[in-house]
Amino acid sequence: MSWQATVLTLFPEMFPGPLGLSLAGRALEGGVWSCTAQDLREQGLGRHRAVDDSPFGGGAGMVIRPDVVDAALDATQVPADVPRVFLTPRGRPLRQQDVQRYAQGPGLVLLCGRFEGVDERVLQSRQIEQVSVGDYVLSGGETAALVLLDACVRLLPGVMGSEESGVEESFSEGLLEYPHYTRPAVWDGQNVPEVLLSGNHAAIAAWRQTQAEEITRERRPDLWSAWLARREKNGAAAN
Ligand code: SAM
Repeated sequence: MSWQATVLTLFPEMFPGPLGLSLAGRALEGGVWSCTAQDLREQGLGRHRAVDDSPFGGGAGMVIRPDVVDAALDATQVPADVPRVFLTPRGRPLRQQDVQRYAQGPGLVLLCGRFEGVDERVLQSRQIEQVSVGDYVLSGGETAALVLLDACVRLLPGVMGSEESGVEESFSEGLLEYPHYTRPAVWDGQNVPEVLLSGNHAAIAAWRQTQAEEITRERRPDLWSAWLARREKNGAAAN
């Protein structure tokens, strides 16, 4: 059974978009995953298929109606064990461990907001998870959904070849990844770090670990503190 992505959106033509190319595109063609984009307007109201209305309490912008989203969720006919996710800047920040969990499941139903967002009641009554792809505001949930799908699909079995393996990459161990170098060995007056030319695998692994730790400490104090705490806990458990 393929991993099933179902997207509820006002712009179904945006899917699979860039995910129809390269690794994800080949996996889509090969049936590793499927992508169905369902137009929220199919459940729109009246002659104009309206999906939104003005916010109670006043203020700028429009809000997507709960009855429209509710009917669109019913229309997907996706099994109940598939997580429902609303992409929103108010959501939990997306992390690699969430992506791993989603990729191990049967798929995702993704709700893409537009305008000011979606009426809160349907998010609560349908127990929809809320996920953010970063602390900035996009014009719609579609590009956020593409980010989430890209991150999941590349982890599905058989999608990445061994040369693109996700085992050692950023976040897999809680650290950012070490820097990479390729030919030429000298470029623009800059040498490749000597140890990488040494053929000494233990020394290379140690250098990469130190680099990963330093880069994480400098760039992401949040990840660094969490990694230190985990190391301390594991050390305590081992003693
Ligand atoms: N009024 C909302 C707020 O301030 O939180 C922003 C609405 S935004 C213009 C329209 C839609 O884009 C949102 O409903 C959401 O689906 C999507 N979106 C915007 N930024 C996002 C982010 N950082 N992560 C996930 N989805 C986002």
